[in-house]
Amino acid sequence: MKTVADESTATHRISDVFNRQKRSAEVLRTEPFSIRKQRLKALAAWVKTNRKLIQQAIYADFRKPEVETDATEIFAVLTEIDHALAHLDRWTKPIKVDAPVTMLGTRSAIVYEPKGVCLIIAPWNYPFNLSIGPLVSALAAGNCAIIKPSELTPNTSAVVAKLCSDLFDESVVSVFEGGVEVSQQLLELPFDHIFFTGSPAIGKVVMQAAAKHLTSVTLELGGKSPVIVTPSVRMRDAARRIAVAKFINNGQTCIAPDYVLVHESVMKNFIDALREETLKRFAVDGTLAHSPFYARIVNEKHFNRVHELVQDAINKGARAEMSGPVDASTRLMHPVILTQVPEQARILEEEIFGPVLPIIPYHSSKDAIRFINKKPKPLALYIFGTDKKEQHEILINTSSGAVCINDCAIHFLHPNLPFGGVNNSGIGKSHGYYGFLAFSNEKPVLRQRSGFTSVQLFYPPYTRRAKKIMDWLIRWM
Ligand code: NAD
Repeated sequence: MKTVADESTATHRISDVFNRQKRSAEVLRTEPFSIRKQRLKALAAWVKTNRKLIQQAIYADFRKPEVETDATEIFAVLTEIDHALAHLDRWTKPIKVDAPVTMLGTRSAIVYEPKGVCLIIAPWNYPFNLSIGPLVSALAAGNCAIIKPSELTPNTSAVVAKLCSDLFDESVVSVFEGGVEVSQQLLELPFDHIFFTGSPAIGKVVMQAAAKHLTSVTLELGGKSPVIVTPSVRMRDAARRIAVAKFINNGQTCIAPDYVLVHESVMKNFIDALREETLKRFAVDGTLAHSPFYARIVNEKHFNRVHELVQDAINKGARAEMSGPVDASTRLMHPVILTQVPEQARILEEEIFGPVLPIIPYHSSKDAIRFINKKPKPLALYIFGTDKKEQHEILINTSSGAVCINDCAIHFLHPNLPFGGVNNSGIGKSHGYYGFLAFSNEKPVLRQRSGFTSVQLFYPPYTRRAKKIMDWLIRWM
């Protein structure tokens, strides 16, 4: 049990590191960009050297298969670093802008300055990627950073802490491990930017704390990402992609399909194909219990939460089209496919974040759109079908953080695309250039020449000539 003295020492250490970072942020902002690149290169080298350590930590946390860790954590972070190294010169170059007639005589540019000292709060579901990915953007933009990894994946949290202490002085990058109380202590401080990845509920807590200091925020949140399977779907291909995006990481992915709206004409075929593809991808000898390809639910609390969501739906009349072994002691839950789920079931209200997929038939695309638009704007929306008119109709009538057509979730790995949500699913964007922007202040710098300039025409005292010119300008706008 923690004593009051322990807590005050922790608070003291946090504010000491924060103050040291404040001082070194002043140095970092003047450093040549080559130093930023050196930091990123060292980061990449550490990740490659310690690949095994990262795999073992995430396996210990929730039995994530090694190759899955390679693809969704290690490769994702290395892609982010590679992309930043390749583009940093261009991103950091001031952008010259043209002067309109009223600004004749001026020369202007947008320069990118680091925000300063940034806080990165990470979730547990991609515990390495979502701690270090934002750090890449923070360092590329020339910031100091404090990372608070999730307490629910303690092995990976320790690896993140080791990485940072191996590579960086605390006054540049530091890690504070621990639970909610550590987050709360950090949130008391006047950071220059907070990059939070987690649930919409805690996103609101973070934004409220940030408001006290008018700190800018990037909120990478979650929600219920829908899939629409239209009549023109290429069935086998769609089922394969949906099964993988849903059940990889045991359904604990912010952009995993949360529910599927399937056109009634292809409902039966879809369920059959999805069932087959799920087993084909994740089971060994027809079972998932000992499959090395299937991760586990992160802890007992989340296991019980997902289990209760399924029970609630079944009690209210839902039918399990697929289910299998469930073992609370190892947090194994076989993929569950549900149909006939009544609208008032909790599983259609709350983000599922587990290996359960409700499938809901729809009659017309308008019905599907109405269903989606009744819920908060999702982080991603997926459309399967070859009919371009229908794709366009869904695209323009819905709002979401991103859209994938004929695929799911892979947009996360595209380094040239902004990643993020809208309203309930997030504020601000990350990845690549957009991550660099999130951690930068886009500062306009205007240089005025000396002597007479066009703006001086409108200085007081206001002459008749000034009034006439202004009348003319407004008339011609
Ligand atoms: P969470 O919101 O419970 O926790 C995230 C972080 O916030 C953790 O580090 C935690 O310690 C901290 N935290 C928790 N309660 C807090 C409080 N009261 N005050 C301050 N800090 C607090 O989220 P989670 O369970 O770790 O992750 C799952 C959620 O994250 C899902 O909703 C998922 O969709 C979302 N997510 C979003 C993305 C994205 O990129 N948009 C990625 C992964 C996960």
